[in-house]
Amino acid sequence: MDAIRRQRRIQSLRSRIAGPQDAYERCRAYPCPNRTTADKGEGLNGLYCRQHIEFYRRHGSYLKQSYAAAELRPFRLQALQWLEGNQNDPAVRQAATAVDRLYRSSGAPVEAFRLAGKKPKERARAVWARLRHKGIAPTTVLATWLAVDLCIRNDLQPDRHDEYRLVQAGKLIHRLAGGSHRRWELERADGSTEVRELHKHPVSRGRVLRLLGEDLAQCCVDVRIPEPGQTA
Ligand SMILES: [Zn+2]
Repeated sequence: MDAIRRQRRIQSLRSRIAGPQDAYERCRAYPCPNRTTADKGEGLNGLYCRQHIEFYRRHGSYLKQSYAAAELRPFRLQALQWLEGNQNDPAVRQAATAVDRLYRSSGAPVEAFRLAGKKPKERARAVWARLRHKGIAPTTVLATWLAVDLCIRNDLQPDRHDEYRLVQAGKLIHRLAGGSHRRWELERADGSTEVRELHKHPVSRGRVLRLLGEDLAQCCVDVRIPEPGQTA
């Protein structure tokens, strides 16, 4: 029974890839001239081309690039200062406790070397575990969310979709967790030693970023830096 259902699903997938019924011919990320992957018979995406699908996986937007570290820096600072000045605010305290809860429920830290092939959900957990392991203060984590919010609010051409906000925050969290680094010495036959190093940074793209952003969004649900001139 299961085998039949599986066979049917594979067949339907094949026919959908081979003969798109309602695919757009051209990628919708205007003015992209590429054909959609569905139109080329390469995939199921009837709206966007391969490059724009990849772009979306990296940035959470089909058109807007991720914010650069330099763009975010002043907002991160502003967020940190604001958090410091409002550390006794119940919403801030609750948010910090929520980050702490994420830390504690994330299990043992997994080295970046061992994350390949793991599900996005497991990779997201590993990121929280690494942050805890590195001793990153929950306030630093909260500041990334607030910084992304400030950056979007001050952007003259923002992407206001949730996806973009979540992915941008996820990227910062991902970067905070860093990679895994190993260094060891090998003894050569002539008795001298050779130093070997291995550095692994997990790739910053895909569903793991959105999951990290969602985790953080839940922690920060009641925290928002008021607009200038507005009282908290
Ligand atoms: Zn395109």
